[in-house]
Amino acid sequence: MPEIITARGSVDTSRLGVTLMHEHVVTRSPGLFEAWPHLWDRGAEMQRAVGLLSGAAAEGINTIVDLTTIDLGRDVAFVRDVAKQVPVNIIMCTGVWRNPPRYFQQADADHIADLFVRDIEEGMEGTDVRAGIIKLATEPDVDELNDKLLRAGARAHRRTGVPISTHHDVSTGCGLRQQDVFESEGVDLSRVVIGHSGDTADTDYLVSIMKRGSTIGMDRFGIDRFLPTAERTETVARLCEVGYAGQMVLSHDANSYMDTIPPAVKAERMPNWHYLHISRDVLPALRQRGTPQEQIDTMMVHNPRHIFERQGAY
Ligand SMILES: [Zn+2]
Repeated sequence: MPEIITARGSVDTSRLGVTLMHEHVVTRSPGLFEAWPHLWDRGAEMQRAVGLLSGAAAEGINTIVDLTTIDLGRDVAFVRDVAKQVPVNIIMCTGVWRNPPRYFQQADADHIADLFVRDIEEGMEGTDVRAGIIKLATEPDVDELNDKLLRAGARAHRRTGVPISTHHDVSTGCGLRQQDVFESEGVDLSRVVIGHSGDTADTDYLVSIMKRGSTIGMDRFGIDRFLPTAERTETVARLCEVGYAGQMVLSHDANSYMDTIPPAVKAERMPNWHYLHISRDVLPALRQRGTPQEQIDTMMVHNPRHIFERQGAY
C-alpha cells in the first residue's frame, strides 16, 4: 500500500481518513522568536495545539495538512512534538509562501528545487521529519520571482512525486496562470491543488480551473471577510450538483496560534475560524441543501487520499 510521510513517520494512505487539506499548527513571523524568545511560550502553545487537535480528533478529524512554510515561521520540531501527543496525522510541507527568503532572489530555479527535494527526501530543519507536500503561493499575480518559485516547486514535484498545493488570489484569477507555469514544466495538473479557490463564488472561474484537471481548495471556511460561510457552502453545493465533487477539498486555513492575530482576538472576531467549523456547521448545511453524503465523503476522504496516493517521480 502507498505510504505518505507525516510528522510522526510514514502512514498507510488508507489511514488518512477525514482530511483537512489546508490548515496550520502555528504560523509566526520568521525570526521573531529567535530574536525575542520571551515572546514565545513553547510549553503553553504546545498545550494549546495538543488540546485543539485532540478535540478535532474526538470529532472525527483524522489528518491535517499543515501548509506552513519557512516564511510563515515553520517549526518542524514543534509540530513533531505536537504530533507525538495527538491521534491526528499531520502532513508537513516544503516550498514557500509570499515572503520568500531574499536568498531566493539570486538563486536559480534548479537550486531552489534542490532545497525542496532535500526537505522531501532527507528531512527538514535538521530533523528526520520529511515534507509530504509542496506549498507555493501567488498574490496578486505571477511575476518574475514568483514564476521562478513556481518552476522550482514544479521541478521538485516531478523529481519526487510529492503533490503541489497552492495559495492563490481569486481577485486576479491567477490560479490559471499558476496552471500555465506548471503545465510548461510538464506537470500533470491533476496532481495540483489550486488553493484558496473558495474565496470566490464565481463558479465559471472555478470550473475553468477544474476543467484543466486540478483539484480546487475550498479551504478558508470561517474567514468570512473573504467570503461568508453561507456563500462558500452554496458554491460547493452547486459545483457538487454539476459533477465536481471529485475535484474539491474542504478546509479552514485555521491555526492553533498565529502571531499576527492573538488567540483571544481571533476567538472574538472570527469565532468560526477553527478546525471544526466544517464538521460542525458546513457539512450539516450541505446535507440540508441536498448534497449526498457520498459526495461529502468524496471531498473529505477520497480526494485527499487520491492526491497523496499518486506517487513517484515522472
Ligand atoms: Zn494557509
